[in-house]
Amino acid sequence: MKLFTFSKGGVHPEEYKLSHEVATVAAELPKVAVFPLGQHIGAPTKPVVKRGDKVKVGTLIAEAGGFVSAPLYSSVSGTIAKIDTIIDATGYRQPAIYINVEGDEWEETIDRSEKLETIASHPELTAEEIIDRIKTAGITGMGGAGFPTFVKLMPPPETKAECVVINAVECEPYITSDYRLMMEHADEIIVGVQLIMKSVSVDKAYIGIEENKPKAIALMTEKAASDPRIKVVPLAQKYPQGGEKQLVEAVTGRQIPAPPALPIHVGAVVINVGTAFASYQAVMKNKPLFERYTTVTGRQIKHPANFLVRMGTPFGQLIEACGGMPEGDNKVLAGGPMMGKSVMTLDVPVCKGTNSITVLTGQDAHRDPIQPCIRCGKCVTVCPMGLEPYLIATLSSFKKYERLEGEDVLSCIACGSCQYTCPSHRALLDNIVQGKQAVMGMIRARNKK
Ligand code: SF4
Ligand code: SF4
Repeated sequence: MKLFTFSKGGVHPEEYKLSHEVATVAAELPKVAVFPLGQHIGAPTKPVVKRGDKVKVGTLIAEAGGFVSAPLYSSVSGTIAKIDTIIDATGYRQPAIYINVEGDEWEETIDRSEKLETIASHPELTAEEIIDRIKTAGITGMGGAGFPTFVKLMPPPETKAECVVINAVECEPYITSDYRLMMEHADEIIVGVQLIMKSVSVDKAYIGIEENKPKAIALMTEKAASDPRIKVVPLAQKYPQGGEKQLVEAVTGRQIPAPPALPIHVGAVVINVGTAFASYQAVMKNKPLFERYTTVTGRQIKHPANFLVRMGTPFGQLIEACGGMPEGDNKVLAGGPMMGKSVMTLDVPVCKGTNSITVLTGQDAHRDPIQPCIRCGKCVTVCPMGLEPYLIATLSSFKKYERLEGEDVLSCIACGSCQYTCPSHRALLDNIVQGKQAVMGMIRARNKK
């Protein structure tokens, strides 16, 4: 099997796909479901419900707050308890809708049947109709970035979509939710890919899957065989293969220029495999985005699992369902160990971008003491963006933001490869991310003048 990959840098973190062969189960409904209003990149949503209102599963509870925004739908039936605040996975407090759960009554407009709808049986679907249904359903990137999907399907006029690239890489070393989704819903995913292709009028799609998922490569190849426009591309196992730029280079051979260039500037529309599945459900089943596949894992977690989770379910409930918190020191991450963010409380609810909850225990939960840089150059060797992490981290810590901009800090994809590889355990990523945010603020202020 010929394997493709990206050209610069990358690392090989130890792999713990503990829940790979654990079939997905539906998580129990929470007693109270909580919906932060900002679950995506762009303007937060605006509530359209008030205390005491009754809702069903699939009822609109907050509308889009701007063009780049996505509406929110209830994942449960019950009564609006309050509109208050909650600390989300970013560690910041933000407005949220609380719903007391009562029963499990769904909106009748949602098609809950298992029947596979095909694109051939719906010739009436135009590109505009597909995009509109995806927009109305509140679909955002399910890989964690949270960009409203319909915006990606409406490329700027100076660009031209030539292919769809489906991100089914799942290169984080613990996460298995996309893998289970492929193993359990391959047919629906293929229809989802066809819908995305139709929406952007292209006749080529690539599904990129890493070599450590041979069963998924085989299954998706078999399912895609009926449509010669869709090609499954096996990828070498290398982190961060799932980065947009790395994936596009691996499957198309094209390199995306430095920011503000996007994949569409080389003709690619990159969509996560979970987003393709959600698009199928939105367009074919009239189902808004209110539940998702989420992995709950960790080396000391008794029963690592994959759940179909209603959004708004607290992390703590899912960890309990896997046997509870391990003894000793723990760090709970929203996401995987490479790019995940440690959460401050187990009340953080599952949101649209929660692909995994990873519990690190004991020594893994601690950082090693930071030592002086020994100028080994390892961070430079592994950076997939060709940056000099030791330099930009230092410039950032000294607040030299203009110089930092010149060193191309905006190209950093926050993959953490530099920090992972540093023998001196320097907090490279933390410093770089902080510096990148400061430079973005500086550019925004400059553009306002
Ligand atoms: S976090 Fe940024 S600087 Fe570090 S390796 Fe990744 S892209 Fe390079
Ligand atoms: S990997 Fe760490 S020790 Fe080596 S050059 Fe980079 S910052 Fe310095």
